[in-house]
Amino acid sequence: MTASLSDRLDTLNRRLRTAAPADAATLVAVSKTQPAAAVAEAYALGQRVFGENYVQEALAKMRELRDRCPDIQWHLIGPLQSNKCREVAEHFDWLQTLDRAKLIALLARYRPEALPPLQVLIQVNIDDEDSKSGCTPAEVAELARAIAAQPRLRLRGLMSIPKPWPELEQRRASFAQLRQLFDQLQRDFPDIDTLSMGMSEDFELALEQGATMVRVGSALFGARQKPGG
Ligand SMILES: *Cc1c(COP(=O)(O)O)cnc(C)c1O
Repeated sequence: MTASLSDRLDTLNRRLRTAAPADAATLVAVSKTQPAAAVAEAYALGQRVFGENYVQEALAKMRELRDRCPDIQWHLIGPLQSNKCREVAEHFDWLQTLDRAKLIALLARYRPEALPPLQVLIQVNIDDEDSKSGCTPAEVAELARAIAAQPRLRLRGLMSIPKPWPELEQRRASFAQLRQLFDQLQRDFPDIDTLSMGMSEDFELALEQGATMVRVGSALFGARQKPGG
């Protein structure tokens, strides 16, 4: 018999507390490709923070869950195209994937006055992979300054999806590099508090290296359903 969502969430929260006992890390439940019903089930078990990769898919779930799950915190963790900035600014609480200056003014312009500032993480391509979005480590400081200059945005820290190195030591090194970059940024922006790194396979390693937020999909919801399948 497979474990229920309730068992998996309990196990995850226990592993999280064991790996980061002092300051509890935030668990982002990655619900991409999962139906709204799965989000509602996790919500009923106490989970409040959810991560989505695709804007349209997320908006459909938001609409469906608005009344049943009023205080979900929605994070966009997938790449952002500039033509989606308005929808993201209007509907998400956090954007974890800001990686170029062009998006900043658009997000600020469209963030409704009635909402708190959009919480923003800069996505860093730490292993310099061609296929991945994310800025280079050298670009972080300038992006941070541009975000901090916008009252409708609030810089919270960094996010990254390191290369899934087969060797544990290499993964650890990528996480450590990110932590270093975060600490460096925090000297200029003392208010930042979030380092989002680590997924189902390696979140404990990420926590060991100083992650404050982990993004977990398959270890919580099970293997992803294919879109349309
Ligand atoms: C899908 C995804 C995750 C979760 O991955 P799992 O391996 O299923 O835990 C985390 N972060 C991002 C950016 C993702 O796209």
